[in-house]
Amino acid sequence: QAKSRQGCTYHLYDERLDHGMRSQVDMQRELRRALRKGELQLHYQPRFCLHTGRIVGLEALVRWQHEQYGLLMPGEFVPLAEECGLIVPLGYWVIDRAMRDMQLLRERGHPALHMAVNLSFRQFQDSQLLPTLERLIDSCGIDSHWLEFELTETAVMRRSDYVLQTMRRLGHLGVRFSLDDFGTGFSSFEHLSNLPIALLKIDRSFVTGMETRPQSQQLVQAMISLAHNLDLQVVAEGVETLEQLQLLREFGCDQAQGYLISKAMPLTELARFLSADVRQSLLGGRP
Ligand code: C2E
Ligand code: MG
Ligand code: MG
Ligand code: MG
Repeated sequence: QAKSRQGCTYHLYDERLDHGMRSQVDMQRELRRALRKGELQLHYQPRFCLHTGRIVGLEALVRWQHEQYGLLMPGEFVPLAEECGLIVPLGYWVIDRAMRDMQLLRERGHPALHMAVNLSFRQFQDSQLLPTLERLIDSCGIDSHWLEFELTETAVMRRSDYVLQTMRRLGHLGVRFSLDDFGTGFSSFEHLSNLPIALLKIDRSFVTGMETRPQSQQLVQAMISLAHNLDLQVVAEGVETLEQLQLLREFGCDQAQGYLISKAMPLTELARFLSADVRQSLLGGRP
């Protein structure tokens, strides 16, 4: 399956190389069609609390079910969508769908899950961001404190006053923010302490292979204590092994996300996962 996915990546890539600019324009048109025709999907990856052993949240990750190329990953179309501005309507679609799905999960008996949605820097350039989000939140009937926006370090690094102001206003609506891919940018302690964020997400690159890399372990520990000193919760991304999970728990990390717990999956699969409590067999029960 991974092979065929790779195959279509290269196919698409070759296509773009072959046709140059024209294919960029084609892709834009196709992405527009995808939005209209409902070819986009959300998959959800659970977040696991290291203190309680429970699933406490989900991250919504967008996919594109392309009629020719099959299932496309965000790396294959989100950058293009950012470039051409389509990330704005795409982003609203994602938020709207994520909140509807949250509603469905509540009906199926899972009321206490935070929903994290990725927000591009580009989406702040839409003057309608605040009123649109306000309307979306109002219409979904879910308390906004369950909603979280993930921003990358590089995105908030641009730190225009406008972005900060918008983040604060959204904060007043009750939503919280997390800093995604932490450690890959250049945030200073001073800078971090001025951001209206509630969580830090340690980038996968520090977690991968950490069990055999003392240096990664030291970095991860430093990031965790930095976050805690700033009263932020810490989420480790890309946790793939039990050893990593145990180290993170030792270091006092709050939450973990990664293939060890689960990959991102469609809603129906997620509902089964949550109900069956698969993690209990996976991780040896609640601590
Ligand atoms: P991200 O927000 O840092 O999301 C984490 C990515 O790491 C996801 O890839 C996830 O499937 C993957 N991942 C999670 N656990 C593991 C693990 O244990 N091992 C490995 N190898 N990978 C893991 P995905 O879904 O391909 O998304 C890639 C990026 O695309 C995201 O990075 C995010 O920046 C962006 N993205 C996804 N959905 C959206 C969206 O709706 N809007 C925007 N603006 N960006 C999005
Ligand atoms: Mg993210
Ligand atoms: Mg990330
Ligand atoms: Mg990332």
